[in-house]
Amino acid sequence: MGGKGAKMKFYGGCQCGAVRYEVNSNPIIAYCCHCTDCQRQSSSAFGMSVWFPTHSFKLTSGILKTWKTNADSGNEKVCNHCADCGTRIHHGSLDEDDVLSVKGGSLDDICQITPIAHIWTRSAQPWILWFISDETCHETQPDSFDDLIARFQSD
Ligand SMILES: [Zn+2]
Ligand SMILES: [Zn+2]
Repeated sequence: MGGKGAKMKFYGGCQCGAVRYEVNSNPIIAYCCHCTDCQRQSSSAFGMSVWFPTHSFKLTSGILKTWKTNADSGNEKVCNHCADCGTRIHHGSLDEDDVLSVKGGSLDDICQITPIAHIWTRSAQPWILWFISDETCHETQPDSFDDLIARFQSD
């Protein structure tokens, strides 16, 4: 799924239901991240990142709170979560970034989106490696996402 076909619309929200959003765009890319930060932020085995153009994201209810941290790259990471229940909704700054990384589990219907890659598999939970194919694995962060984006868009 990607650039081909009709433009898609997605809905999502937080666990308590206060935050609701809609996204009027096809995803740019979707991948799973097995870094230890994503394990913590998702309180689970891995994080799922679904990039959308920032302008296509619209908060329709609730309040997002921001928490900032530094990524391993040294870049500041802007993390946005429901002010009430804390569910992480997206990473990125609505003012400054072109791309928002929406947390896959906050989408109502994630089944429409298949991740193209698994990154930071160096720190993946060992049992996960039984289920994912080697070709989709990247031990760390890919130098560039361009190639993966192109493949995701043409699938
Ligand atoms: Zn990560
Ligand atoms: Zn909430």
